[in-house]
Amino acid sequence: MANSKYEYVKNFELPDPLLPGTFLLFRLDGHSFHRFSAEHNFEKPNDVRALQLMDHAARDVMEEYPDIVLAFGESDEYSFLLKKSTSLYNRRQSKIVSTLTSYFTSCYVFRWATYFPDKPLEYPPSFDGRIVVYPGEREIRDYFAWRQADTHINNLYNTTFWALVQQGGQTTTEAHATLRGTYSKDKHEILFSRFKINYNQLDPRFRKGTILVREEEPEPTPAIEQVASAIENTATPSSECEQPATSPDSAKSKKQKKRAVKAKPRTRVVVIHTDIIRDEFWSARPNILV
Ligand code: ATP
Ligand code: ATP
Ligand code: MG
Ligand code: MG
Ligand code: MG
Ligand code: MG
Repeated sequence: MANSKYEYVKNFELPDPLLPGTFLLFRLDGHSFHRFSAEHNFEKPNDVRALQLMDHAARDVMEEYPDIVLAFGESDEYSFLLKKSTSLYNRRQSKIVSTLTSYFTSCYVFRWATYFPDKPLEYPPSFDGRIVVYPGEREIRDYFAWRQADTHINNLYNTTFWALVQQGGQTTTEAHATLRGTYSKDKHEILFSRFKINYNQLDPRFRKGTILVREEEPEPTPAIEQVASAIENTATPSSECEQPATSPDSAKSKKQKKRAVKAKPRTRVVVIHTDIIRDEFWSARPNILV
């Protein structure tokens, strides 16, 4: 494109690269979801369809961006960890934040009707996004511990609050007053003695949030391999274009085959609801923090 006298304005656009060799932590959060959840009649304290929709949109994001190695979701927020070595969009901050936020948001809208078939969207939801750069493994582990501890604290409060309202007949003002100044053990006690709810037996999705990790696909079964090689053996070239065995093409195909054998195993994104604070999660998945 020809230069114009206007082009100097481009120089006002400043580069915004993120420090190389650091973990990039991308978090998004629903904008005014207090209102959005009320207008779309989310069940309280936890609307499972809304959580599954968040999880699905997050899975879509992970499938689109292979450099995301871990994600954690609760309520209207999701955190995504990009591997240290990522060169996604040359690590340009606003490009990454805007593209990922936008992709998540459109997946959320795209899949809305799957989870809420009887409830059309009343208005377009939006999400804010940010990236925080972390230098090391300790901070990353503490980051995810912080989010999961937050899930627990909020869920214990909300579960007790809504039990007081829905089963205890209190107004929301009364329920807030009942809970003011209470500790964790007091809430467990209210739930158990007044509503026969054993908090620790509630759905782990609500207590632990959702974790998305990549797992290796199982190796193809020998039966499939046999079929594949049978097809390969019968597919002989026609005599007209037959190539000598030493042709560059056949060498290339050998190379390709070798590469295929060495290729990284296929992975898929899996959804789990487990403890991310203790060592077990991390020691079982040493590849996340490389
Ligand atoms: P902000 O724009 O500052 O993020 P917000 O209204 O979204 O404001 P948050 O602190 O993000 O405030 O809280 C999100 C709110 O959305 C929760 O307090 C809860 O009321 C509601 N919410 C989100 N997901 C669910 C769900 N799955 N089930 C029920 N309520 C939900
Ligand atoms: P990047 O992700 O870097 O923005 P891009 O492929 O979107 O890459 P752009 O420079 O933004 O590249 O150009 C957008 C391209 O989309 C145009 O070059 C054109 O090919 C196509 N495009 C956008 N809008 C229209 C339209 N209304 N009609 C036809 N083509 C369009
Ligand atoms: Mg907020
Ligand atoms: Mg929000
Ligand atoms: Mg939130
Ligand atoms: Mg473009």
